Amino acid sequence: MSTETRTRKHVWTCHYCKKSIRDGAGYVDVPGADVYRLEKAEQTWREDHPYGGTLKELLGLPNPAAWVATHTKCDPHPEKGSYRFDVAEARTTEDILDWTLHLMDKTWMEFTDWTDFIRNHMAENGTVLDA
Ligand SMILES: [Zn+2]
Repeated sequence: MSTETRTRKHVWTCHYCKKSIRDGAGYVDVPGADVYRLEKAEQTWREDHPYGGTLKELLGLPNPAAWVATHTKCDPHPEKGSYRFDVAEARTTEDILDWTLHLMDKTWMEFTDWTDFIRNHMAENGTVLDA
């Protein structure tokens, strides 16, 4: 039996060009404006419906702000006020767990699709074994 330690290295795929992202060439990003838009819409909805509302009314709220992995050069709005971190900081499952724990402390996380984003990343982009 080998005592060699293997680590799972995550490959991040650019949302726009569908190519893999090298360390330093891109980031994982969520637009702050989209987070703010949903936060405000939900606040307004709560004010308008102090005793709750129908599911149909709830479904009228904007979608959660979408996280994407993108090359810096492919990002259509690189200057926008986003929360982002370099893909180099998310190469192992442990890195991703650390980011998840860090982000869970953010009050605005409930307005993003982090859970679905990471679930899809784990299922579709997969990982490769790096000896
Ligand atoms: Zn790209």
